[in-house]
Amino acid sequence: MLAGILSEGTELDENVKLALSVFLAVAPLDIKTVEAPPEASPVIIVPFEPAQISSPTINALGNSPLRMTGNWRVFRPVWNREVCTKCMACLARCPDGCISLDEEGFPCVDYENCKGCLICVRACPAEGIEKVREAQVL
Ligand code: SF4
Ligand code: SF4
Repeated sequence: MLAGILSEGTELDENVKLALSVFLAVAPLDIKTVEAPPEASPVIIVPFEPAQISSPTINALGNSPLRMTGNWRVFRPVWNREVCTKCMACLARCPDGCISLDEEGFPCVDYENCKGCLICVRACPAEGIEKVREAQVL
């Protein structure tokens, strides 16, 4: 069909010829397959793995230390242990993995990498995190 619309000797005709010769020069790949024995189960058993292995580290710091995100803050979150119920909502919501738990189970923050987005403040159902302007802290 292409031959009908191409005139002899045009660049397009030459390109088609070249493409065809390259296509024919590629050796077909022989993929070896193995027939499953008739008694084999079609169900694939996936072995169980602990969550630490099979899931990503959600609370990892990522590249925050490289970006020095602690320098971005205008406000810093400050925790009030008097009202904190240790629900861990702030820890789960921090996008930079800056919050961990201390020995008593209270959240503590890594201010070197906390960028001051204040998502933790909004996430706290007990209103146990106050936003404090950096200038008032220093
Ligand atoms: S303000 Fe809160 S949520 Fe945002 S980075 Fe700092 S600790 Fe994480
Ligand atoms: S979200 Fe609030 S109450 Fe829950 S652990 Fe964090 S500070 Fe405490």
